[in-house]
Amino acid sequence: MSSVRGLHTDILVIGGGAAGMAAAAGAAAAGASVLLADERPVLGGVLPQCIHQGFGLGYYNQDLTGPEYCAREEARFLASGASYLPSARVTELRPDRTALLSSPEGLCECSFDQCVLATGCRERPLSSLGVAGTRPSGIYTAGEAQELLNLGHYDIGSRVVILGSGDIGQIMARRLVLTGRTVVAMAEIKGSLGGMKRNHEECIRAYHIPVIFHATVTAVHGYPALTAVTLHHLDTGADETVPCDTLITALGLIPETSLAEPLRSGDGYPAWLHLCGNADHIHEIVDSVTTEALRLGRSLVKSH
Ligand SMILES: Cc1cc2nc3c(=O)[nH]c(=O)nc-3n(C[C@H](O)[C@H](O)[C@H](O)COP(=O)(O)OP(=O)(O)OC[C@H]3O[C@@H](n4cnc5c(N)ncnc54)[C@H](O)[C@@H]3O)c2cc1C
Repeated sequence: MSSVRGLHTDILVIGGGAAGMAAAAGAAAAGASVLLADERPVLGGVLPQCIHQGFGLGYYNQDLTGPEYCAREEARFLASGASYLPSARVTELRPDRTALLSSPEGLCECSFDQCVLATGCRERPLSSLGVAGTRPSGIYTAGEAQELLNLGHYDIGSRVVILGSGDIGQIMARRLVLTGRTVVAMAEIKGSLGGMKRNHEECIRAYHIPVIFHATVTAVHGYPALTAVTLHHLDTGADETVPCDTLITALGLIPETSLAEPLRSGDGYPAWLHLCGNADHIHEIVDSVTTEALRLGRSLVKSH
């Protein structure tokens, strides 16, 4: 006898960040049975760790923190009648419209009519660059550092080099200064900062973050803990050893679509599979994530 539980829902939503919550709420409010599964124990995806303001200016016309924005979206989701499975990771999506879910209750097979993939994005790691040296502790992506610092209250070091100048790196640079740490340098390979203009003003200039343009990290030093990085200046060709105990990378985001890839054919994804939020394309601000996902959720019921 199989020990795998079986479930059926009209619409399975994978991921409970801003995108998944809005898509699920839109579809459930329009009358579909909806099940949202998220691997984390709480809703919100990246929102709970984004304790800075800057969320909701477009959608709510208010300057909210990530957790405040999350609370509003969670309230709408919970009121919509959609079902919610926390700590449930979808490990497989199959062409016969079933998904395998793994949770503390065991394995579960869910059949569905339509599926919304709202699995967010991944951060490009240091290993995506050809960086020489040891693999010491003290190296994080910006999102990992944000989660460790803001949600876990871990000590992630005191002298920090940031490689790359994407939005999350800039927001983390400010957060590190505000928590008493020193940002020794932010190294950017291009000649200008990445990310949104408002972060250049509010995070970099306001907190006097030393940005070194046309520079990258080519080696890390120290073992078992990081002690320094080699900064290579592309304009002069010079190498500089920069002592630090933490290296944070902000090298860009990649949509997380690994569950969908085995289903892709020459015609793209199957008609029953719908991508939204950062899994579809990287959104700078959450407001457009919510608007697009709500619209998607409602449209699925009309076409159902
Ligand atoms: C550091 C940072 C700062 C930002 N600052 C701002 C800002 O100031 N203003 C603003 O408007 N926007 C900001 N944004 C952008 C905005 O927050 C995001 O674009 C938006 O929240 C992304 O929502 P999402 O639902 O697509 O992804 P996510 O929030 O990443 O949610 C995806 C969810 O899917 C889950 N998941 C993934 N795979 C599986 C699986 N196989 N099974 C089950 N669950 C799975 C993940 O655990 C996660 O909970 C920021 C983003 C970041 C990362």
